[in-house]
Parts: sequence; C-alpha cells; structure tokens
Amino acid sequence: MRRQSRTQRCFTRYLPKKTDPADSNKDAFIIKCPFLLPNFYSTITICLMEKDIDINKAVRQHLEIDDFFTGGFTIRAKASEPKLQQRDNAAFANAAAELEKIAAEVSRCRKCNLGSLRTNAVPGEGNPNARILFVGEGPGADEDAQGRPFVGRAGKLLDKIIAACGLKRSDVFIANILKCRPPENRDPRADEIINCFPYLQRQIEIINPEIIVALGAPAARTLLNTNKSIGQLRGQFYEYYAGLGSPPIKLMATYHTAYLLRNYSQENRKRVWEDMKKVLAELGLPIPQH
Ligand code: URA
Repeated sequence: MRRQSRTQRCFTRYLPKKTDPADSNKDAFIIKCPFLLPNFYSTITICLMEKDIDINKAVRQHLEIDDFFTGGFTIRAKASEPKLQQRDNAAFANAAAELEKIAAEVSRCRKCNLGSLRTNAVPGEGNPNARILFVGEGPGADEDAQGRPFVGRAGKLLDKIIAACGLKRSDVFIANILKCRPPENRDPRADEIINCFPYLQRQIEIINPEIIVALGAPAARTLLNTNKSIGQLRGQFYEYYAGLGSPPIKLMATYHTAYLLRNYSQENRKRVWEDMKKVLAELGLPIPQH
C-alpha cells in the first residue's frame, strides 16, 4: 500500500464519518487538525461545505501562506519606517475627517439594491496618509458581518503580503470598488459599480496615495477603464487620473488574494510577489530578500 503523507495521515485520523449519503452534495466536514503548530499544539478547524474540495490543498495553503509570505522562506523585512506623506497635523486630521464623512454617507447609501441587502457597509479603512492604497472588488460575508474590508480568508492573505513587504496594515489604506456585499458574492453589476465608484474616487482624492494596488480584474478594469484581463494588466505600472489638474497616481494591478487562494501555485504567488517588489522599489522601500 502506498505510504500516506503526513497530511493524509492527519486527515485519515481526524476526518469524521461521512454524513448522510442522501445529503451527498453537501457533506460538511469539520476537521480538527492539531499538528500545524507543534509547539503550540494549535487546533484549527476547517469547514468544507463542498464535497469535492481538495482538503490537502486547503491545508497546504494554510501552511504555505505562513511560510511563503512571513515564515522560513521570507526574511521578513524589518518594519520599515514608512515615510508618511508630508502632511501637517491639521491636514492629517482634515483628511481623516473627510474619510469619516464618506464612511457615514456610505453607511446610509441606498443608491442601489445592495444597500438594502447588506448587514454592514464596508467603506474601507486605514491610514489617511497611506502611500499605498489597496483596492479590492467588494465585501464578502466576513466583511459584511464586520463592516471592515479584507477580514476573511482573502484578507488574511493580504495581511501576510503587507507584512512580507515590511509594512503594517495600519500603514496602508484598504478599500473596495463596491462598498456593499453582492448576494452570494456574485460579480459586481455595471449599475452597482457606476453608483458606488464615486465614493472610491473621493477616497483616492483625499488619501492621494503614491501607488494604488488594484487587486483583481474588477478593480483594475474599473480604475483603468479597460476590458483587458488581469493577466494582461498585472506586473506593470499604469496611471490613474484622480481629476483634472491632479498629477496621475501610479497603479499596479495584481491578482486578487481570493484568486490566489483558488489558484494556489508557486508561480502565481511569485507573480504577486514580483508585482509587490516593483511597488516597494517605486516607493524606495527596502525589498525583503527571499
Ligand atoms: N474581497 C474583496 O474584494 N474585498 C474584500 O473586502 C474582501 C474580499
């Protein structure tokens, strides 16, 4: 018999008995997996609702996310002192207050149907003086529940990427094209983007970041007004025009962290890291060595 890998042995041991075969399309596996951090004997629980989800892949991702972005593989950058924009205290307070105003408007917004379906609006959060603004697609279930952007699984991966860059989440600003969750996480519709985009445009004007990182096709396409694929767009700088008279802001498009989780190959992770290295170089920040 073929020898099982450590992961397979673990799951053989911890997989619960199959649920009712009548419900075979929706087996819910609760897997407790105590080997992940041997020193802490930590237990993670993974709930997999799709019967055919690759369990090994889910665990491998969990392990490798740590390893790739912050663990053994990465020599974590010394938390660089992020050079904040030259804004005096009054200007900083003013920017923070303007962002609060937008957040308040967003929380009352009923310009489209999503406003009546949300639990919480997710206006975005972060440093009003951020040099980097990350823009995703729209809130998922976790974000909708908490009213904060990128707090679910894709968000945890974004946190790792930010940490691997030697930055903290509080150094950057994180927002989305849509401020409310589309039902079942479906793709944003054109009318929703058209109604919602002005909030992001105002946020960009206020924050005035040096670089926007567009995560995934909907963000990159909306900000660059193009139909190109994310594969075509990623990896090079573009210019985003915040308004007449404002100098253009550099924009780097890269894969969305949710895409990265679904297509979790060494190649894709390397691509995202290459894109982020270009961002760091452009900002004159130290690039962690792998
Ligand atoms: N995906 C997004 O695009 N945005 C979030 O805030 C979370 C997940």
